[in-house]
Amino acid sequence: MAETIVMKFGGTSVAAPEDIKRAARRIVDARELGKQVVAVLSARGKTTDDLVAQAFEISERPLAREMDMLLSTGERISCALCAMAIHDMGHNAISLTGSQAGIVTDSSHTRARIIEVRGDRIREGLGADRIVLVAGFQGVSGDSRDVTTLGRGGSDTTAIAIAAALGADLCEIYTDVAGVFSADPRIVPGARKLPHLSFDEMLEMSSSGAGVLQLRAVEYARNHAIRIHCRSSFDDHPGTLVLAEDETMERPMVTAVTHAYEARVTLTGLRDEPGVAGRVFGALADANVNVDMIIQNEPVSVDQKADLSFTVASEDLGAATDVLAPLEVGEAIETDPRVGKVSIVGAGMRSHPGVAARVFSTLGENQINIEMISTSPIKISCVIAAGQVPDAVRVIHEAFDLGAEAVREEDPSGEHRPRVTS
Ligand code: ASP
Ligand code: MG
Repeated sequence: MAETIVMKFGGTSVAAPEDIKRAARRIVDARELGKQVVAVLSARGKTTDDLVAQAFEISERPLAREMDMLLSTGERISCALCAMAIHDMGHNAISLTGSQAGIVTDSSHTRARIIEVRGDRIREGLGADRIVLVAGFQGVSGDSRDVTTLGRGGSDTTAIAIAAALGADLCEIYTDVAGVFSADPRIVPGARKLPHLSFDEMLEMSSSGAGVLQLRAVEYARNHAIRIHCRSSFDDHPGTLVLAEDETMERPMVTAVTHAYEARVTLTGLRDEPGVAGRVFGALADANVNVDMIIQNEPVSVDQKADLSFTVASEDLGAATDVLAPLEVGEAIETDPRVGKVSIVGAGMRSHPGVAARVFSTLGENQINIEMISTSPIKISCVIAAGQVPDAVRVIHEAFDLGAEAVREEDPSGEHRPRVTS
């Protein structure tokens, strides 16, 4: 049987009419190489943002179910138009909504999770020698049969889930950047395009602000061993491969610096007794609020109260304070709607001591105060003032020699980076 390939095109790759035609050409090229092609498309350009804005022009609190009906239209437009372009190129294509493609989800509107990909109509289409286009970012609730969406950036997850269901072992993600970089090139112009990354590194990067791939997509890819090739839709250069750690040839100590902006909540005067943290985070979980960093210290003396700080996505701040206020577990809730977070990620950190010390002293030497710290075996994150984020990214990138220049000096091919030791 012919090899099946899943190609996903992001919003900027289908924005203007010529972009849609360019995507169609790439899809047709793959078909002409004898592959069975499924393409997952995002909404064109800023369409999803515009649709969100339209909803808020009508209502202060748009119903989540109707929000999904509205937002899911963007991806359908892209697919129908791309199918037309493919027909004009002499090939047979069919576009499907997420629901028609059999993407079955739970019923949490605007952030649904995929439960199952039935994919009968995708297979039928491929069997009939057609190119199949699937609207990204959406599915249908198995319980309510309502249309759902998968959260911003969800087309990535659609593509990976379809690749898994079809038994494809590679998913190509076409975007407006050349791949995954050692830092945001808008902040660090000398950032390096990473030839490959492990799933774990990519997971940490997606969760700490690298905007290239939706976190859930990476989780899904890791769980189903789907390699991801993240690359530009505007040229033919290879991008970044995300794959299992044992397939990556090298284990640099630090791979990349990422950054993000979040909101912080501090609960002061908490009673120091069992069950308090459980109630706080239980309430947040029930409200579907994802908590990122959490810091709590044991009060220094008996009878003293504890303070607890955590960060959440800025858009979840309102929901977080809404559910915490009635709990009455402490004296006050303080919020900071915008804090910065800078993180360094690298699988080699596991076996290299001294990385944290170097990050902290680099920030210190540059007069950047660290407000919160959290770590995983392969990531160190620091919350700092939002305004200092660009500087922090630059100095850390420099301190660990992550740039393209550092690599070129030792290896003109740029493919192998030096092992930086502490
Ligand atoms: N169109 C949706 C968004 O802008 C989904 C996606 O592009 O992946 O978030
Ligand atoms: Mg996207």
